[in-house]
Formats: sequence, structure tokens, C-alpha cells
Amino acid sequence: MPDYITRFAPSPTGRLHLGHAVSAFNVWAAAAEAGGRVYLRIEDIDQTRCRPEYEAGIVEDLCWLGLSWEGLVRRQSDHFSDYRAALDTLQARGLIYRCFRTRREIAASLPAGADPDEAGFVSRPLSPFDEAERLSHNAAFAWRLSLEAARSALGARWETLSYQEQTAGGVRRVPADPSRFGDVVLARKDTPASYHLACCHDDALQSISHVVRGEDLRAVTAIHAMLQALMGWPQPVYRFHPLLLGADGKKLSKRNADKSLAEYRAEGMTPEDIRAMTAPA
Ligand code: GLU
Repeated sequence: MPDYITRFAPSPTGRLHLGHAVSAFNVWAAAAEAGGRVYLRIEDIDQTRCRPEYEAGIVEDLCWLGLSWEGLVRRQSDHFSDYRAALDTLQARGLIYRCFRTRREIAASLPAGADPDEAGFVSRPLSPFDEAERLSHNAAFAWRLSLEAARSALGARWETLSYQEQTAGGVRRVPADPSRFGDVVLARKDTPASYHLACCHDDALQSISHVVRGEDLRAVTAIHAMLQALMGWPQPVYRFHPLLLGADGKKLSKRNADKSLAEYRAEGMTPEDIRAMTAPA
């Protein structure tokens, strides 16, 4: 049987909460069930929001929960050149372009309340002259993956884009259509990679065979299937776990969602208490 390798990939933008504990328990349970391994990956690309003390907190909290990982921790900020190389490949193939539209400009062009990241925004490269002019003024930009270019690069494969999902009933193939996300941002002028690019790159590099992640990341898995097809990266099998709900079956209250594992610990809670609080109803 091929190796079962999965990962826990938190972003150190704060201390871990109950929602993270649910995710971690699901990851480690899936690995234990399959006799597999878990890697710990620190997704700290966004250096404006991530902090080393939160990374230390992640390690401390996982150890407290009794969860241990294989080998060295991969910290994404130590590998910016890897993501740059992937971006260069996409650029050389004419798949990405610099978009100088600001979030505010994009939001203004959309129906009120639409999320610019989800509204299917598509654009096109500026002329070389206009681009050079903006760059000479040090303008900010995002590297966007052109949906149109991706579709033509993949040809007939576009129609069969999909990923495998592991469910209680076995593994099924799920069609993936990333069109609704429009031209996805893969990097920014001062941010060498987006979550999508760094995550798919690392899943391939680390030979992740199974990704266990929350239901909230189901939709963006279509973007990941597209990137994997474009880059020729192997595709893990995906398994989505339910998100933690409050006692009333609705979204966790802000009070509980905002309380960190460290705070629960300081109040005298044990790892078993956390397991009980996060067990599916
Ligand atoms: N850093 C992402 C998060 O914390 C990882 C999600 C994933 O791909 O599993 O949501």
C-alpha cells in the first residue's frame, strides 16, 4: 500500500482555537486510521499577519493535545524562492499577469456586498507600455492567473478537471470548476505567493497523499485542482471534515470561537476536555 502522508497546515496569525483543534484531531485520526504520517507545515506567507510567537504557540498547543508530527516542520517563509520559481514557470507560459486594480476598485465594479475574491473577477494584462509606466511609479499589483489562458493551456483537460474525495462510502471523483473564482490572485508585489500557490506547491513537494481539511475549504479545492493540472503536480485525495458548531447546531458563538486553547488550558481544562468539546454531536 502506498504511504499515507497528510499534514496539518495552520497559519500563525493568532493562537489556536477550538476550530483548529477539530481540524487537528481529524488530521491525526485519519492518519492513525490509515497507519500514516502527519507533517506540520506553518503557512506563514503573509508576513504582515503571521508572528513567530504564534508559531511557537502552535507547537506548544499541539504538544499539549498530545499530537506529534513526523520530521522537521516546514515553514513556508523559509522557502520563498520555491514559490517564486513556480510563479516564474507560470509567467513564462503566459498564464499569469500583473493586475494593478486595487481591491477597492474591484469592489466598486461589483454588485454591493460581493466579495472581490469570490466574485469571479477577470481582467487582462495591460499593454507593455502601460505596464512599464505603472511599474516605474512603483505601483502595487497582484499576479493573477488568467482563467482564459489556463483554459486554453489545458485544452480538453479543462472539461475533466476534478479531484478525488474520500467519503465514508469510499473514494469518489468530484468535478472541479474554478470559473466562479475568476482570475485568482497567486502572488502580490510584496507577497511572493498566495495560500493557493504555496499550499499546492508544498502538497506536491511533500508528497502529501491525503489532505484532510474543513468543509470551508471545499470550494477552493477546485482552484487547487486547476493549479495541479497546470503545474503537473500530483493530486492528493481530499477529505473534508465538518466545522465545529455551537450547542444549538449553528455557527460557533464569537465568544467560543475567539477563545484560544491556551485560555482554556489556563482555566484548568485538559486535552480530554477539549476533545469532548470538539467531538461531533
Ligand atoms: N493555512 C490554511 C488554513 O489554516 C491551510 C488549510 C489547508 O489547506 O488545509 O486554513
